[in-house]
Amino acid sequence: MVRVRGAQENNLRSVDVDVPRDSIVAFTGISGSGKSSLAFGTIYAEAQKRYFESVAPYARRLISQGHNPKVEAITGLPPAVALQQRRGTASSRSTVGTLTTLSNSMRMLFSRGGTYPANAQPGSLDSDAFSPNTAAGACRECSGLGIAHTVTEESLVPDPSLTIREGAIAAWPGAWQGKNLRDILIHLGYDVDVPWRKLPKKDRDWILFTEEQPVVTISPQRDRVAKPYKGRFWSARSYVLHTLADSGSAKMRERVLEYMVSGPCPVCGGAGLRPEALAVTFAGRNIAELNGATLGELAEIIRPTAELKAAGTASRSAASNEDTEVAVTITRDLLSRLEILISLGLGYLSLSRATPTLSPGEMQRLRIATQLRSGLFGVVYVLDEPSAGLHPADAEPLLAVLQELKDAGNSVFVVEHNMDVVRSAEWIVDVGPQAGDGGGTVLYSGPVAGLAGVTESATRPFLFGEAEEISPARRRAERWLSLKGISRHNLRELDADIPLGVLTAVTGVSGSGKSTLVSQVLAEAVGTQVNGAPPEAEDDDGAADARSADPGVQVRRIQGLEHLDRLVKVDQRPIGRTPRSNLATYTGLFDHVRKLFAGTDEARARGYNAGRFSFNVAGGRCETCQGEGFLAVELLFLPGTYGPCPDCHGARYNEETLEITYRGKSIADVLGMRVETAAEFLSDVPAAARSLSTLLDVGLGYLRLGQPATELSGGEAQRIKLATELQRARRGHTLYLLDEPTTGLHPQDVQLLLAQLNRLVEAGNTVVVVEHSMNVVASADWVIDMGPAGGDDGGRIVCSGTADDVAACETSRTAPYLSEALK
Ligand code: ADP
Ligand code: ADP
Ligand code: ZN
Ligand code: ZN
Repeated sequence: MVRVRGAQENNLRSVDVDVPRDSIVAFTGISGSGKSSLAFGTIYAEAQKRYFESVAPYARRLISQGHNPKVEAITGLPPAVALQQRRGTASSRSTVGTLTTLSNSMRMLFSRGGTYPANAQPGSLDSDAFSPNTAAGACRECSGLGIAHTVTEESLVPDPSLTIREGAIAAWPGAWQGKNLRDILIHLGYDVDVPWRKLPKKDRDWILFTEEQPVVTISPQRDRVAKPYKGRFWSARSYVLHTLADSGSAKMRERVLEYMVSGPCPVCGGAGLRPEALAVTFAGRNIAELNGATLGELAEIIRPTAELKAAGTASRSAASNEDTEVAVTITRDLLSRLEILISLGLGYLSLSRATPTLSPGEMQRLRIATQLRSGLFGVVYVLDEPSAGLHPADAEPLLAVLQELKDAGNSVFVVEHNMDVVRSAEWIVDVGPQAGDGGGTVLYSGPVAGLAGVTESATRPFLFGEAEEISPARRRAERWLSLKGISRHNLRELDADIPLGVLTAVTGVSGSGKSTLVSQVLAEAVGTQVNGAPPEAEDDDGAADARSADPGVQVRRIQGLEHLDRLVKVDQRPIGRTPRSNLATYTGLFDHVRKLFAGTDEARARGYNAGRFSFNVAGGRCETCQGEGFLAVELLFLPGTYGPCPDCHGARYNEETLEITYRGKSIADVLGMRVETAAEFLSDVPAAARSLSTLLDVGLGYLRLGQPATELSGGEAQRIKLATELQRARRGHTLYLLDEPTTGLHPQDVQLLLAQLNRLVEAGNTVVVVEHSMNVVASADWVIDMGPAGGDDGGRIVCSGTADDVAACETSRTAPYLSEALK
């Protein structure tokens, strides 16, 4: 047993709990009850701390200490590995292959087991030569990026019907310089008065691309005043490249940039590798081709080799090493690892897929699969909702993988909301009963069945099927948004009809195209038309770069846009990335609070205006920490950590500002209040009361007003956004898009969320959610089921209709689970 005594992290109330090792343990409880504080903040953090204490003092200085959990004692604690849900690193070079380390094996396979061209010695390239991220492998032209900025005839001559005299070569400079180049061409005997496209190809190529720079003496013919002069010729390409590299004028550089196009590198074709490496093949394809294949295809390509019984031994003379023992060993290992990924429903991904384009759920499953192969045993894996983003049809394999981790001799602790996963655990630790101060106690710790006797538990009714179903009357749409000919990722010429004024759930297995349809196509196509711009740039998780490289949305025709006047994406992305943004600033509540303080007699007497009460500008804030309340502690080589400010001790303001009180509280006191306390304190201030009551409605009464954005979970951030929307309280024709809004939510919180979404619909708006939780799907007005499978086998609408229609659909993989939920 892992025995925890006196845990007081965050809201935990001196928790004592014993959790079995070598088991699968589920930590449950409503959002904010303290599950993560126990599983991650206490158990995992303590294991981390001990690990750091055990390493040499010298090394310890170099490693971030993490935090010191508030706990009296923990005994029986093995080392821990945490697999939390995070977006991929912003590095655009991180891919599925590098994350899973499968790329290493692929490179080894090509180096030792590939077929080399006749003129090359088999095995002559080491595995680095197959990586665009190494000096040995990177294509010289594009430094391994695979992208090149180049000029083409089309980019240099946008209108080939013009003659050179008329300005066909748009990329050339204008005015005197351009005329000069033209005169040189005349002198050299080129015809500048026929349309560009009529010139022979040889001439066109020379004029645009030559590196020669003939110098000729030109005697201006029509201009008698000018004297003969010497002119140097620049081809359009040399002119553009020269200007880019050497011009001191930013304006000139910008101008020529317009005549360049970025595309796959012409030397490596986008693979980022040198020609020698690309000449090596396995099963007839080079490494770039295999990296671009889906994991499912890749498995089938290497399977014949992996299943070879009698492998020949490497022969020096043979060009091919494909059936050597080495190749068989490597492909066997690769195949078994691919099969785990495929069983986790990720067979539609490719090794070359950039990690910033993956969803957090996909990321975590990749990490889990990678851990299975790490060979670690005797560790505790602490996982954050491994079922996130998973269709119910894919839950079984996930459970099997968790079981394998356990069978290998590990403990698996999961923070989970999916009752199917919880039911399959051997032990449950239920935290509650409420959130924040109302939570923080362990209500039950023991075999799952035993929770049935714990009346206080918010989890119990959902686990044992006693929860009341919310069954709203189904609403019928009167108007529709109709999209024709959508092409993006695996959607090919798809037609989709979205009912307006109702709640629609989009379902389907992972990779079927739900997010592409909702978060990308709908968001961009409708956003551009209705808001005048696509939804706010995704600026804070590195996903932006990867996505902006995506082709633009292609929709041939949209009808029904006139029924919409706004589009809002309510996602789980943080409401801010620094401790400077918080709940109060984000919702606009803080503006009202600052005005209240500025309106007090004392503030007026001292001449303090509302700005004085902002911690973001000089004046009223503490200057030591510049209003952050914390100071970054710089650690050599490491990302900094935060410590409380020695002057204001976290209050954020200077003493004079804190002397102003409203009903006996300073501005810092108000920031320290929980939403529920503040709602009482400010109940007679209408503007403040309105936003506080919407926060209460979405179940966030336990949050502090000043709780920094950085401390909020994704689910909390999402509900804050939702509350901000609800507070606008206007009858609308808004389209709300939500991608898996129930991620991180306990079933009880899900009911709360659903109630809010229904409120938006009641007010005349349209809500479209991508969802895996069948309870939510069952209560939607309309269901669009995508599939039938992931990747190229998906991208279609398998069926759509009411939940009952879809549940009856024979070809839908969602149907069996949906009909179960409808019972
Ligand atoms: P759960 O995992 O059950 O959703 P948490 O353990 O994340 O709950 O949070 C429990 C309580 O502690 C909540 O009231 C939450 O707002 C608060 N909390 C979480 N993280 C921090 C933090 N870093 N600082 C202060 N309070 C926190
Ligand atoms: P779902 O939301 O149903 O899980 P997605 O819309 O995320 O499915 O993905 C549908 C298909 O599009 C999958 O084959 C996926 O690999 C592919 N895809 C999604 N995003 C990208 C991207 N940024 N680049 C390339 N392919 C992508
Ligand atoms: Zn290249
Ligand atoms: Zn300070």
